[in-house]
Amino acid sequence: MLLPKFDFHEPKTLNEACQILAEYGQKARIIAGGTDLMVNMKKKILSPEQLVSISRISELKKLDTAGGNIRIGACFTVAELNASGEIQKHLSALGEGAKNLGTPLIRNLATIGGNLGTARPAADLPPALMAYGAQVVLKSLSGERTLSLDNFFLGPGFTAVKPDEILTEIRVPALPPGSGAGYINIGVRKGQDCNLVNVASFITLDSNGIIQNARIVMGCVGPVPLRALSAEKILIGQKPESALFLRAGAAASSDSTPIDDFRGSAVYKRDMAGVLTRRTLDIAFHEATHRQ
Ligand SMILES: Cc1cc2nc3c(=O)[nH]c(=O)nc-3n(C[C@H](O)[C@H](O)[C@H](O)COP(=O)(O)OP(=O)(O)OC[C@H]3O[C@@H](n4cnc5c(N)ncnc54)[C@H](O)[C@@H]3O)c2cc1C
Repeated sequence: MLLPKFDFHEPKTLNEACQILAEYGQKARIIAGGTDLMVNMKKKILSPEQLVSISRISELKKLDTAGGNIRIGACFTVAELNASGEIQKHLSALGEGAKNLGTPLIRNLATIGGNLGTARPAADLPPALMAYGAQVVLKSLSGERTLSLDNFFLGPGFTAVKPDEILTEIRVPALPPGSGAGYINIGVRKGQDCNLVNVASFITLDSNGIIQNARIVMGCVGPVPLRALSAEKILIGQKPESALFLRAGAAASSDSTPIDDFRGSAVYKRDMAGVLTRRTLDIAFHEATHRQ
């Protein structure tokens, strides 16, 4: 399969990249690791005339954890996320997503910004990032805006990023004491397979051990990663215990809106959304009790 023809730009600064995007508008496309975009171009799903590589812009590769607030540059790779002690310490569920994404070759190239940019409902990193309450920073020549990831995904393959904007950074607010999170994905096969269902759960316990905050995000069971809002409602204000997590799992199942496809039936995916919710809550609770 041959690639369609395109011009290649390799800016070294963000400002230069923004200028190129502003000049070419809809004709241009950002390329980071290229692991998703190249496949789409070979299949002729996308044929951008101008490719703007952001992989040489050093400020997009930073990881900053000063003061507990975590800022991850859009070009931080999945392999770097997986290897980072800071990510494992602060955002273990994101680290788990990174560990499970693709193969070593893919992880070496794939970036966190690109994973969000694909807007694939089955992607590995959005559930944990949304569960942690992450925001993204979008930059263009006319300025910068910050957007909650809850409002970032518009549908399969579509995000709120405008043609002249670059996702520069992912921000996760400092997590309060008593917080914990878990992430689990399942596929038909163990390795190199698209997820069948993936779920991330995040909870914060108050000093009496009561659930103060809960966020549950399910992938593959809707056009975008979905918050399990009724499950979250069941959890808040309650003492964590198996029966409660079972009820939350059942509610998450009802919150999911999967479709039948060649990977699995909607009925199976709905059931698994509930099972994974319960299991990720167990992991989140375990972590939260060790961070009181
Ligand atoms: C064999 C194989 C296995 C895979 N396995 C998995 C898997 O298990 N789990 C999973 O989640 N994904 C998987 N993927 C998909 C892909 O590798 C990941 O989604 C990866 O994180 C994409 O990152 P990238 O840097 O390569 O993005 P690119 O391909 O460079 O870009 C992807 C999209 O995001 C846009 N984009 C990239 N960066 C930015 C930015 N900073 N600002 C705005 N827009 C941007 C691009 O324009 C493009 O539309 C797999 C792909 C392959 C080929």
